[in-house]
Amino acid sequence: MTDKNGIYLSVDGDDAVRVIIENNIKIQTDRIKISEELIGELEFDLSNYEAVLDRIIEETEPLDGIGEYSEEQFSNVSNAALELADGVRENDLTSGILLRATVNKLLDFEDDGTAMCLMTTMSNIVDALREPLDTRYILYKYLKSRSEFDTHEEWLWKNILSEGYFFRRDYPYEIINYDLFTNEPKLSQVFFFDNYADYFVFLFLKFAKQQKRVLECPCCGKLFVPKSNRAEIYCDRIIVDGKTCKQIAPKLARKLKQRNDPLLEEYERAKNRNYKRVERFENSGGSRTVMRYTFDDYKAWLDKVSEIKRLYLQGKVTADEFKSAILSS
Ligand SMILES: [Zn+2]
Repeated sequence: MTDKNGIYLSVDGDDAVRVIIENNIKIQTDRIKISEELIGELEFDLSNYEAVLDRIIEETEPLDGIGEYSEEQFSNVSNAALELADGVRENDLTSGILLRATVNKLLDFEDDGTAMCLMTTMSNIVDALREPLDTRYILYKYLKSRSEFDTHEEWLWKNILSEGYFFRRDYPYEIINYDLFTNEPKLSQVFFFDNYADYFVFLFLKFAKQQKRVLECPCCGKLFVPKSNRAEIYCDRIIVDGKTCKQIAPKLARKLKQRNDPLLEEYERAKNRNYKRVERFENSGGSRTVMRYTFDDYKAWLDKVSEIKRLYLQGKVTADEFKSAILSS
C-alpha cells in the first residue's frame, strides 16, 4: 500500500480512516469525519494561492510569443508548482499532499526534448493547480444548494443528477487484507487518491449518500451540517471570545428584529448579488468579457463582512463602516 504518494482511504458512513504516504513513507494515519473534511476544506483561504498561480501561468507563455520554450522556463514552472503545493501543505496537509503528488506524477514523463513536450506538461501542471479553485466552487455550490431543498431526494433530482458528469470519475481501489479502522485481518476496500478533485468529489459523493442536511449559518455566513435533526439555525464555530455562533447569535438576532434595519437587508442583497457574480464568472469558463470574481474572492468578502455585521449589531462599528464593507468586494 505504500508504493504511491497520495492518500489511501477506507470509508464507513461518515467515518473514514486515511493513510497518507509521502516518498514511500507512511507519514500519517488518521480518522476523519467526511462531513467535517469537506466543509473544512472550503474554509481555507486560497486568495494568495490564486495570485501565485497567476504568476505561474504568466511564466508558461512562449518566449517568442509563438512556440519557443526553454528548459529553464520549464524548471521555473515546475519548481514554482511544487513550492505552491508545499505552501498549501503548511495549513492544509491533505491538499498539499494531493497537489504535490499530482505535480510529481506530471513531471515523471519522458522528455523527448521537443517544445511540444514541455508545453504540454506545463499546461497540465497549470490545469492541476487550477483544480482546487474550480473544485471548491463546485463543492460549495452543491453543498449550499442542499440548504435550499427540503428533502434529500429533491436536491439529488434537481441539482446533482442534472450535472452528473462532474461526478463521473474513476475511483481506483484495492482490496487489502486488514481493516484500516481496527487493524484486524479482513478483506477491505481501500481507495487511493493522488489528485485533489478526485479526492474531494469522492468525499462529496460519500457525504451525499448519508442524506444529511447542510445549512448556511446566518451569523457567520458559513456552511455547516446540523448535528441533529432538530431545528438548528446557527453553527458551532467559535467566532468570538470562545463563544460560538449558536451562543451569541440568538441575542443578536433579537436586536436585528427590533431594528428592522435597512442595512441588514442591504447585506443580504449584497450576499446574493456577489454570489451571482461568482456563478457568472465560473460558468463563463474564464471568458474575458465576464468580470473576474472567483469563489475565493467571494469567500474572503463574506468572511469579512459577516464579521463586521456582528460587530455592527454589537454596537462596535458604525453604520458607515458596515455599509462600506457591504459595498466593498
Ligand atoms: Zn456560524
